[in-house]
Amino acid sequence: KALERLQKILAQAGIASRRKCEEMILAGQVEVNGEKVTTLGVKADSATDVITVNGKPIRSEKKVYLMLNKPKGVITSAKDPQGRKVVADFLPGIRERVYPVGRLDYDTEGLLLLTNDGEFANLLTHPSHHVPKTYYATVEGVPHGSLLDQLKKGVMLEDGMTAPAEAEYQDVDPEGKQSTIRITIYEGRNRQVRRMFDAIKHPVIRLRRVKFGDLGLHNMARGQFRHLTPVEVKELR
Ligand code: URA
Repeated sequence: KALERLQKILAQAGIASRRKCEEMILAGQVEVNGEKVTTLGVKADSATDVITVNGKPIRSEKKVYLMLNKPKGVITSAKDPQGRKVVADFLPGIRERVYPVGRLDYDTEGLLLLTNDGEFANLLTHPSHHVPKTYYATVEGVPHGSLLDQLKKGVMLEDGMTAPAEAEYQDVDPEGKQSTIRITIYEGRNRQVRRMFDAIKHPVIRLRRVKFGDLGLHNMARGQFRHLTPVEVKELR
């Protein structure tokens, strides 16, 4: 029997964070095989025990871990009230209810992870985890080397200084109209890369994420997805 703590099973089933699940247990909302559990040490087997929250059985879906090369003009959420394209439109045949690990802006393309493993998603998006994310940012003009140094040291944004980053020239248009900078950040604030380039007065024209942790986009076609291998999932944790 594969016994695990109840709060862990609940969190992995996507009910809520582990902390929140502990509160639900203490509040008497959880039953195992018809018996209410109100203490935190209890273990169960998610494959064989019947676990309910507020009387409803939790789903013990198979965990899926996907990477998508998100095209621009696609919204990173399950549904869009305005009817725009959403990432789920690019996952034919995936029946599990997966959700994105972090976000990419509507106009940002590139590597997006999706999973139904809530704990995995929380871990990778938690601010303390510092997963490196690498982008190719095509920007207006050619930022001076000293401006790239500023990006590396940290720039002041509305929500505070950015943490140290990496930034280097990837490609420079000979006429100087635009350039592409390869930038790696270790945080994940809202629109962070765009705001960093706004701060040095070289606005982003095109933004593409090419790496998340050790996982690279490589030559995956735009709009395509694939399952991660178990080794890739393990290395991201
Ligand atoms: N930074 C941005 O500005 N946008 C994204 O989509 C991701 C990182």
